Parts: sequence; structure tokens; C-alpha cells
Amino acid sequence: MTDLYEILEKLYAVKSPSGFEGDMATLITKILKKAGISCKTTPMGNLIAHKKGVGKKCLLDAHMDTTGFVATFIDEDGFIRGDMLGGLSLCDLHDIPVEFLNGTRGVLSYERKTKFGDRTMASMFIDIGAKDGKDARGKVLPGDGATFCGKPEKLSGTKVRAPYLDNRIGCAILIYTLLNLKECPYDIYAVFSVQEEVGLRGAKSAAFGIEPDFALVIDVTSSCDTPGFDGKGEVKLSRGAAIKVMDRAFIAHPEIVSALCETAKKENIPCQRDVLTDGGTDGGSIHTTKLGVPTGGISVPTRYIHTPCEVCDMSDAENVAQLLIRSLETQAFII
Ligand SMILES: [Zn+2]
Repeated sequence: MTDLYEILEKLYAVKSPSGFEGDMATLITKILKKAGISCKTTPMGNLIAHKKGVGKKCLLDAHMDTTGFVATFIDEDGFIRGDMLGGLSLCDLHDIPVEFLNGTRGVLSYERKTKFGDRTMASMFIDIGAKDGKDARGKVLPGDGATFCGKPEKLSGTKVRAPYLDNRIGCAILIYTLLNLKECPYDIYAVFSVQEEVGLRGAKSAAFGIEPDFALVIDVTSSCDTPGFDGKGEVKLSRGAAIKVMDRAFIAHPEIVSALCETAKKENIPCQRDVLTDGGTDGGSIHTTKLGVPTGGISVPTRYIHTPCEVCDMSDAENVAQLLIRSLETQAFII
């Protein structure tokens, strides 16, 4: 498909559940440094890329962590109990392939005696095929992280499926933007943040350190266009970049919303207004930093978020990238 898709595919070479983002930071640093973009990693693990400009300080954010699992207890038979990293719906998880960061493969399964609706993490376990507890402990210890398995695969048209499009697609867009931005009227700090899925933690410390004049968050948003979604929202796949108006963690600054809408209109970039009612983004912690930071966001409509099989349309992702690039190049934000 596109350069953007190639960048996305590259990001599946490593795993990055919340708290274990080091390999992803290294991978993104390698891609950006090749293009001469300066990068540094903060003590908390955030990766900050800097494109120096003379104008206002702009923070661009995409979280590089994903949801996942952490082992908590290994029983005598070698089955591993665990907890969630971030919010996962247990209804989506029936005998799912998972892999620990050290490469140990397993199946996330559930106790058959537990009724479907009563399922909690206490009734789930990971089966790595160990013969007993000693064998299992040789491969996995409490505290080890695991994720779903899978890579991007093309569906009909320009749609793709993959686990963790939230927020690999946002990271790919931010990398693509840094590589393709021609003029740079703002002083740009691109943050690939850690620990978003467990409470918007990395972005909080990054924003505090950078003290931006304004911020834009790139993430996914719920696409309300599958059967049964009637009346929940208007965002749909393939309808363009989703301009954030609000989510559960913050209300976008009205001047940023208008600047993005006007740029989309001027540049003929398909867009839609995004009111996300069932999730938050890093904007939640960035906008309350110090005296407050005018914050907005552009999102990629995505189906089945936080399941092992998320779906988005690469044409929407391209529109998000174009809208971000053109609004920065034309200095659309006068804050
Ligand atoms: Zn996200």
C-alpha cells in the first residue's frame, strides 16, 4: 500500500505492553535517527524526538504502549494466572494465542466452570504447555509481560486487521509526519509515550518536562459502524480523519478543533468530528499540565479496539497524517 503501511508493519517486530516499552523506543529511535532526527529517552521511558523550529513549542503525542497481561502466579500444574495491563473486555477472550516478551508462547484460556458473564481475570489462565509448575517457572516468572500475537494483514480495499493498531497506527503516523514534514514553523517535540493504557502516565511527565504551548494527540477512536452501534456515535471507518472534540479524559481546545476543521476543508482532506464516549487519550494528562495546555487530537477510526483483532482503514490513517502535516506546515494553530 503506502509508506505509512510499511512503517506500521515495521512496528510489529517488537512487543510493547505498558511498562515494557524499551524495545519499541529503540526501534523508533533507529528509524528516526536514520533520517537525522534527534531523539532522547527520558528516565520514565518516553521517547522524545525533536525537530527544531523558531515558532511556538508544539507537543505531538502518540502512546507506544499497548494493553497486555502480566503474570502474577504460577500453579503446581504449570498454569499461569495473570492480570491485565490496561482495559480489556474478558468477553472478547476465548482461547487466544499470546506470547511473553521472552518468546514463550501460550494460550489465554478460562475455567470452563465459570459462566460467561461471571468471568474475571481470576478465572482466566495462560497455558504455555508446561508439564508442571517447575517447568513453567523455568520459562515465566511473576511480573513477566505478555501480549496477543499477530501482525497487520490486509482486508478488503485499504482496510487492515491487527492487534494493537491502538496505538501502533498512531506511532506510524507520527513517524511518517516527522519524516515528511517539509517546513517546520513550530518547535516540535514528538513524544512516543509510555503507560497510556494504565492511566495516561508517561504523557504526564513528558508534558511537565517540555512545557508546550499547545499539544496534539494521535490515537485511535471507536468506529460506530458495526451492527448494533446505532445511536452511539457518528464516527465511521473510511470517512476520514477523526478530529477530536472530546473523550472521557479531556475536552479539546475549541481553537484547535476549528484550526483542524478549517485546514481539512482548505486542503480537501476528508474528516469527521469525534466525540469518544468510551475511552480516554493522553490529552487527559497533557491538558492539565502546569497552568494548562491547549490540547487537541486527530484519531484513526478503529473497530474492535482492545481486542486481538482491531480493524482500521489505511486511507483514514493517511488522512490523519496529511491533516497533521498540512496544519503544522501552514501554521494553522494560533494559540
Ligand atoms: Zn490508544
